[in-house]
Amino acid sequence: MKDFFADLHVHIGRSSQGKEIKRATAANLTFENIARESYYRKGVEVIGVVDCISPHVLEDIDKLLESGQLREKPGGGLEYRGSQIIIPGAEIESHQPSGGSAHSLCFFPTLDTLKRFSTSMSKHMRNIYSNSSVSRLTAQELFRAVEDYGGVLIPAHAFTPHKSFYGSCCKSLLELFDEKSFEKIPAIELGLSADSEMASQLSELDGKAFLSNSDAHSLPKIGREYNIIRMEEASFEELVMALKNENGRRIELNCGMNPKLGKYHRTYCNRCEKILEGEPPVLQCPVSSRHPVVVGVRDRLELIKDRKGPHMEGRPRYRYQVPLEFIPGVGPKTLDRLIEHFGSEMKVLHSAGFEELCRVVGVKTGELILKAREGLLEIGAGGGGRYGVVEV
Ligand SMILES: [Zn+2]
Ligand SMILES: [Zn+2]
Ligand SMILES: [Zn+2]
Repeated sequence: MKDFFADLHVHIGRSSQGKEIKRATAANLTFENIARESYYRKGVEVIGVVDCISPHVLEDIDKLLESGQLREKPGGGLEYRGSQIIIPGAEIESHQPSGGSAHSLCFFPTLDTLKRFSTSMSKHMRNIYSNSSVSRLTAQELFRAVEDYGGVLIPAHAFTPHKSFYGSCCKSLLELFDEKSFEKIPAIELGLSADSEMASQLSELDGKAFLSNSDAHSLPKIGREYNIIRMEEASFEELVMALKNENGRRIELNCGMNPKLGKYHRTYCNRCEKILEGEPPVLQCPVSSRHPVVVGVRDRLELIKDRKGPHMEGRPRYRYQVPLEFIPGVGPKTLDRLIEHFGSEMKVLHSAGFEELCRVVGVKTGELILKAREGLLEIGAGGGGRYGVVEV
């Protein structure tokens, strides 16, 4: 068994031919650039790429397979240049007749099943080429569609106020999925504004793995959250086993931002344009109940939880980590210097020695990186779409 760094939620911006795949993403976020960046700079060994049902992306994948740079693994998943593992999948939006829409991550055992899923989904989407996430299906219908092709469905950023199951559709997943389907959901994604302790207060999630992924819309954001996953090798099959905690495969550690750094941690008043501190749940603005607010993940969870405190038994630790780009004094140039010296961001974050760090970036920044690694930085909470900030 080996431990792998894995980030299972990275978007594609453009095809290699420059066709737009997803709006509001960086233009250099192509399938191949993701594979390179993850391998050479990030040190994240397994990447879930979630816009692969666009025929433009499938074409890019086919070209890389033909050129021999990409190889499909026997247990599912793609190997780039003999090293980087890509798990191709999709993030798809479902809609409830009662209102509310939510995103799910969907992964498939083979490239063939992914392609067939893409063909079948083209009937349920306005534009499968770009904007490949919005479907007309309900959550249950989407689950069936994914299951038909042997895939797994994982609720994405499960508590965020926009486009998530617990944030905008339901208090319990059993309101949306029948019991059998619910049982087959192996994991949920926490999202940047939540951590395992917060999510474990919903008892229906016992037995489901928690994933901490980046939801990267640009290359630098890859790996800002990730998981350390123990597997025999990196493949779709092994990954599913790990999510189900089977045969010694498991998630060893969640590494993510302090949830206070997330964009939707606390409730935000759109009229007053400020974060509403105060004992959660804060569900309305103290100035006027008529002010429109964006309910924070912390506040929402406080409202729907059915346990008094966290229940971490049998769960891996959640380690707070501040992404390097959030650290005051670490701009793009410093980041380049760090990566060049230590080999990858993962090495800077996990194993770089203090003295060596100080030699490369100076004592002040070196100390901040060390504090970030140990979760000792002071953080002001985010909300309403604004990230939290590291306070020095
Ligand atoms: Zn999403
Ligand atoms: Zn996403
Ligand atoms: Zn207000």
